[in-house]
Amino acid sequence: MISEEQARLRILEKISPLDERAVAIADALDCFAAGDYFARLPLPAFDNSAMDGYAVVASSCKKGGRLRVIGEQPAGPDQKLRVSGGETVRIFTGAPVPQGADAIVMQEDVIRHGTDISVNVDVKAGEFIRQRSCDLTEGQMILARGERIRAATVALLASQGFANVMVGGKATAAVISTGDELVKPGDELEAGQIYDSNSVLLSALLLQCGVSATAVEHCRDDRQSLGDAIKRGMKNHVLIISGGVSVGEHDLVKEALRELGAKIEIWRVAVKPGKPFLFGWFESETVDSEGETPVGPTGTMPVLHKCFVFGLPGNPVSAFVTFLQFVRPAILRMMGATNLDLPQVPAKLAVGLTNDGGRPHYIRGRLEHGKFTPIGRQESHALFGLSQANALLRVGVGQSLKADEIVDVQIWD
Ligand code: AMP
Ligand code: MG
Repeated sequence: MISEEQARLRILEKISPLDERAVAIADALDCFAAGDYFARLPLPAFDNSAMDGYAVVASSCKKGGRLRVIGEQPAGPDQKLRVSGGETVRIFTGAPVPQGADAIVMQEDVIRHGTDISVNVDVKAGEFIRQRSCDLTEGQMILARGERIRAATVALLASQGFANVMVGGKATAAVISTGDELVKPGDELEAGQIYDSNSVLLSALLLQCGVSATAVEHCRDDRQSLGDAIKRGMKNHVLIISGGVSVGEHDLVKEALRELGAKIEIWRVAVKPGKPFLFGWFESETVDSEGETPVGPTGTMPVLHKCFVFGLPGNPVSAFVTFLQFVRPAILRMMGATNLDLPQVPAKLAVGLTNDGGRPHYIRGRLEHGKFTPIGRQESHALFGLSQANALLRVGVGQSLKADEIVDVQIWD
């Protein structure tokens, strides 16, 4: 059995980022930038009006004064109007400020008299003008390599005229849930059977990493079915197998993987919950649709396909914790992410906690108003408690934490 830190290191050193690709910005959400991006345009790109109103020369615009309206400038093409003292241009939000004007008077502060207006307020230069470049300067970094692309990021890229963005590779994944006791939700349960919840759990966790599982299948605890399912799943970059990795006679995953040629790098990690965790990989020459083995860029090397296999314990909380601690960082690295850690936030601990066991313990809890309270039964089968939790607290071996102490908790929602 190896330590959690060792396991994570050994997994990550085996994994390299997949080939980068260009995607339309509309498809880039939750991808990771494959390069640094810089502003091509300042924001705003030109001085423009923050209000519907009138563009004026502030120094010649006195409270109670009258101005002649010489034209209109809506948002859109610059009408190339020029404003002098005693004049004004009707203007709308987002419209370019006409030459000569240095302030906007909002329409609520004027009275219109045909072709004139009277101004009801004092006006200062710069008022209600959004200055060119006040938000973003040309050349400023807008997105760093490895950063996750969020909704606001795609909007920013669009504002800069980028139609496409280079992002990290697309990881494919398959899920196999093993167990003779498992029944598909919606079907009838017989005595001793339970519903398969890990299939959907793992698919959902994958989706939160930006990966839609190509196949999710249930497999009985027999060598033949397991071997067949693994052969199908190993065409992906990632294969996640739930259950069957422990030490019982019905835990067949390790042997089935070995028989098919997998290299098993890790089996059993000192972590609670999640000890029977397994990590390994298959390496195979890829075969194209005609059954030919394609050659690599040098013309000599066959293209190698690597499939990383994660065997997660069947207990739902163990599957959840090991996915977040080991599978998630691996997938993020494949996809080109820089930050592989779950977000951590400081929280005040509601109760004292001591870990007298031999493995670091991930306590499930609820983080609310900056306070972390352990929730539900802290046992690896206790799915309800997990469903109420929104944060994990890692308590190291021998660690004793006091009530009201400030701790860092991991969040995932
Ligand atoms: P295993 O790791 O196969 O020994 O399973 C450990 C525990 O997790 C057993 O109580 C199983 O019934 C349960 N379990 C295994 N797979 C699933 C699953 N897909 N959904 C819910 N519970 C499961
Ligand atoms: Mg089982």
